[in-house]
Amino acid sequence: MRLKDKVAFITGGARGIGLGFAEAFVHEGARVVIADIDIDRATKAASGIGPEASAVHLDVTDLAAIERVVGETDKRLGGIDILVNNAAVFDMAPITDITEASYEKVFDINLKGPLFVMKAVANAMIARGKGGKIINMASQAGRRGEALVLLYCASKAAMISATQSAALGLVKHGINVNAIAPGVVDGEHWDIVDAHFAKWEGLAPGEKKAAVAKSVPIGRFATPDDIKGLAVFLASSDSDYILAQTYNVDGGNWMS
Ligand code: NAD
Repeated sequence: MRLKDKVAFITGGARGIGLGFAEAFVHEGARVVIADIDIDRATKAASGIGPEASAVHLDVTDLAAIERVVGETDKRLGGIDILVNNAAVFDMAPITDITEASYEKVFDINLKGPLFVMKAVANAMIARGKGGKIINMASQAGRRGEALVLLYCASKAAMISATQSAALGLVKHGINVNAIAPGVVDGEHWDIVDAHFAKWEGLAPGEKKAAVAKSVPIGRFATPDDIKGLAVFLASSDSDYILAQTYNVDGGNWMS
């Protein structure tokens, strides 16, 4: 029960990694709010977890909605102790083919949204005066360039940078900001990635995924279960002396 009586706000928690974190946090004694643009799926996810989880509609590109939803959650649950800035989208094109629409979508959801969610939650934590934990979802994609994945890689590199600056700005308030950089995690996100590679590299559906699975040093894709231990650690008091870090959980993928 490392998160007993804590309140966690998880964006994009209706499925995938965010849902895995929501389940793990409740298992550790927390109450969890799943804030997702897909409210039907978020509601189902919350009721599947049980009474300690609830769902709220949030589009992280809507800055007014962020302020409202964070304010209401803070009031309803008596304060937010943990934020997981997890919602993101994937898109793919080399520099010769990027579009303004893709740029705006990727950067609005993967960078601007998380920055303003961080701002709203940090201000609520400061006003409450009890500190807190902020976990940003970066990616191995933020650690290196990829010829076909320019915008997504750049958005995740920016999250690593924002984690460092926010951590240095918030440490005086007892708020620890860190990030997690997964490698390849199986689920709907990677089904989308695979479909993009199929289009750009002329591959059959599933071909890229199979090749990538073989190339990970540990020999397989991750599941959300492989990532959740670090999230619980970063959300708990065990990580009180840690800030501004981005940790890889990638089966050795980035190193290789
Ligand atoms: P996913 O695509 O399965 O889930 C993303 C969630 O975000 C969905 O529930 C979706 O409804 C929600 N969402 C999308 N746009 C939103 C918006 N505007 N407002 C609110 N919610 C929105 O992704 P995942 O695989 O679970 O990844 C979670 C995080 O981990 C993301 O930040 C992703 O970039 C990162 N990541 C994933 C992988 C991977 O291989 N899956 C690898 C590295 C990093």
